Amino acid sequence: DRLLEVVAHRLRQCVRAADCVARLGGDEFTVVLSDLPDINAAAQVAHKIAAALGAPFPVSGNEIFVSASIGISVFPQDGEDVSTLLRHADTAMYRAKRTSKGYRFYEAGMDASISGHLQLEAALRRAVERGELSVHYQPKVEAGTGRLFGAEALLRWNHPVRGPISPTEFIPLAEETGLIIPIGEWVLRTVCQQARAWVEEGRELAVAVNLSGLQLQDPSFINRVEGVLTSTGIDPRHLILEITESVWMEQAGETLSILHRLKNLGIRLAIDDFGTGYSSLAYIKRLPVDILKIDRSFIRDIASDPADGAIVRGVMALAHALNLEVVAEGVETEEQRSILAAMGCDYLQGFLVARPMPAERFAEHLLLPSVEAGRKSGGSLRVS
Ligand code: C2E
Ligand code: MG
Ligand code: MG
Repeated sequence: DRLLEVVAHRLRQCVRAADCVARLGGDEFTVVLSDLPDINAAAQVAHKIAAALGAPFPVSGNEIFVSASIGISVFPQDGEDVSTLLRHADTAMYRAKRTSKGYRFYEAGMDASISGHLQLEAALRRAVERGELSVHYQPKVEAGTGRLFGAEALLRWNHPVRGPISPTEFIPLAEETGLIIPIGEWVLRTVCQQARAWVEEGRELAVAVNLSGLQLQDPSFINRVEGVLTSTGIDPRHLILEITESVWMEQAGETLSILHRLKNLGIRLAIDDFGTGYSSLAYIKRLPVDILKIDRSFIRDIASDPADGAIVRGVMALAHALNLEVVAEGVETEEQRSILAAMGCDYLQGFLVARPMPAERFAEHLLLPSVEAGRKSGGSLRVS
């Protein structure tokens, strides 16, 4: 609320006394500039606003950084009534989010491509409220024995009309709109509650949650995590946080210290999709990381492509030298499993063992005594 107040104040200072500044909802402001000499004057004000909001905001002793995306519609060419003008400014604003300039003028034809996107965004906001999101769990097993080690929690969205929507489609949307912060916290809380329940039933397992880079940039992230740990009562050693390689590489200063604090809480940290970014080995050595997950793209052809085999072998040697545990992602065939096991890979995850599944099914199939029996006989774990 304090931030909104200061933003409003800065906005007012960018416009003339006769112009109107209003907050129509959430974090969206509307500015009405009347009697402009020409269209360039609107661009100049937009530029001024973007610069004013680009400077840090001192709020309650902290410096908060925000960025603004501005969409502009002009009367009468972009609309002759308020609702059309607002709608077109909104469309232009979504386009502005994709440019570095910070503002965009409305252009005819923008609507067509944007409306699907806007619809999906509105649906995602409702999805959170209507409980359309759920978490599925995919087992991770020891490569040598097939013993269950834990699970990765994967977010699912079941859209009432479109059906299931892939996280690769809606996570970027959630990031673009800031919804990833409440959604990410909901996932963390749901998974910690579930893991705590499984641990209480006597299961020794670690559950991994994926983090977005935006969550790490949220100044209240560490407090949110501590809040979830306290309220769910989970022992942090049962929790792993997965962060993709490219996000790890962007971390410096402040956020790197957040990662150290997470690790000091007793949470394990993993580099996800390793091999898709360009990490420097010297850098990895300094990161508070425990687990390295080799990206699926190297596992896929491991049996047929000697180069992929060599890369995986090399990455594994590097990881072990740095005292990291290795998980191979996307293991689909027995051949891949045996190659990885022979190379000394610690853990496997993939369709060979099981696809991600709802918590009840995970508990039913993987945590039941029949699985215990399978473990004891050394049989490999497999669920369809
Ligand atoms: P990821 O973290 O690398 O997750 C592994 C993805 O590989 C999952 O896709 C999983 O279903 C898929 N997978 C697992 N085994 C196999 C296999 O053997 N073959 C193939 N072809 N695929 C396999 P999914 O569930 O669609 O998730 C995609 C990505 O979305 C995740 O990649 C992760 O980056 C992101 N994601 C999922 N849930 C969350 C979440 O709660 N928060 C955030 N920030 N990101 C999430
Ligand atoms: Mg992951
Ligand atoms: Mg991955």
